[in-house]
Amino acid sequence: MADWNLAQEQTPDPKRKEPTWKEWHIPELRVPCIQANANVVVVEQSQDSTFDYWLRISTLDKGNPLHVPVKLAPYHRKVLHGRTINTSTTLLRRKGVWWLTLSFDEDVPLQTEPSAPRVGVDVGIANFITTSTGKHYGTFQGKLAKRHKRDREKRRRKAKLRACLKKKGVEKLPSTSNTSGQRLSRHVRQEINRAVNQMILDHPDARIVYEDLSVASMRFKAKAMNAYLYASHLAHIPEQIAWATAKRGVAAHTVKAAYSSQECHRCHCVDRANRPDQSTFFCVVCHHREHADHNAALNLSSRFGDKALAGCKNKGEVKALLMKRHEEWKQKNRACVVCPPVQLGLWDHPATSTDVG
Ligand SMILES: [Zn+2]
Repeated sequence: MADWNLAQEQTPDPKRKEPTWKEWHIPELRVPCIQANANVVVVEQSQDSTFDYWLRISTLDKGNPLHVPVKLAPYHRKVLHGRTINTSTTLLRRKGVWWLTLSFDEDVPLQTEPSAPRVGVDVGIANFITTSTGKHYGTFQGKLAKRHKRDREKRRRKAKLRACLKKKGVEKLPSTSNTSGQRLSRHVRQEINRAVNQMILDHPDARIVYEDLSVASMRFKAKAMNAYLYASHLAHIPEQIAWATAKRGVAAHTVKAAYSSQECHRCHCVDRANRPDQSTFFCVVCHHREHADHNAALNLSSRFGDKALAGCKNKGEVKALLMKRHEEWKQKNRACVVCPPVQLGLWDHPATSTDVG
């Protein structure tokens, strides 16, 4: 109050209202999460007690920090043995239990041989991961997508109810928290992690080549489709690939993804019509037929070390380069192109050739 009077005397401001006394409002934190650096929370090795560490948490009361004992499980003790713990920490309370996150830096030497075979990795919703070796890992379709749909409907019903009650002047509205949505989100990320780990396990001595995916710029016209994209946590897949490979010392590289799903792996023809449906790739020129994600993974794999392609500044340049390669391919294979497409199909994929033409 004294502050306000002084300020008003010096620079009178009619817009500033006289402060009024309000009752103390002490917030109740439901999921308190404290992210702290060494200025606030210090982890100290315990010297003379049965605890492993002490957390010294600074408080507003100067000179009176909180001391919280930390006891480690045998597993944690083993992992942290001989490491220097980073100074930033996170304290999180979940369901009445406090969790402390400690981290340390580690340099993992690269295990991958320079001559290691490349494995292209295509990222998607229908298949979280498809490799150029023709394997699929994880999916958002089916169970997860159904759960997402149910959750979305539930949220909409709730929002309607809230709007309705608000109109009627009801003061206590139903909460907007969404536990099942959070659980689903966690589950999707777990499924992605599992898919990535399995993929790395199946290709132990490979160089992983994956796409430089920018999910942030992806937008669909339909709202439901955007919600679907968001719920699939597509952006988490490349992040997890980067993290999981780094952790194991596996070489991993990103390459440009532009047109990797429309380009024919055999003749480099780029055409939207090459994708008659979501899962099929069928080249309109050379009639090369493949699972769409597998074709994309093969393209990504061969884009590693492709300097001309890496030098392209935008999508237009990528397309021009690919179409130039397509023309070169046509020059080289002129004799083949005049052959009926059915025969080309027969030479390549005897098993699937009956579908062709
Ligand atoms: Zn083709």
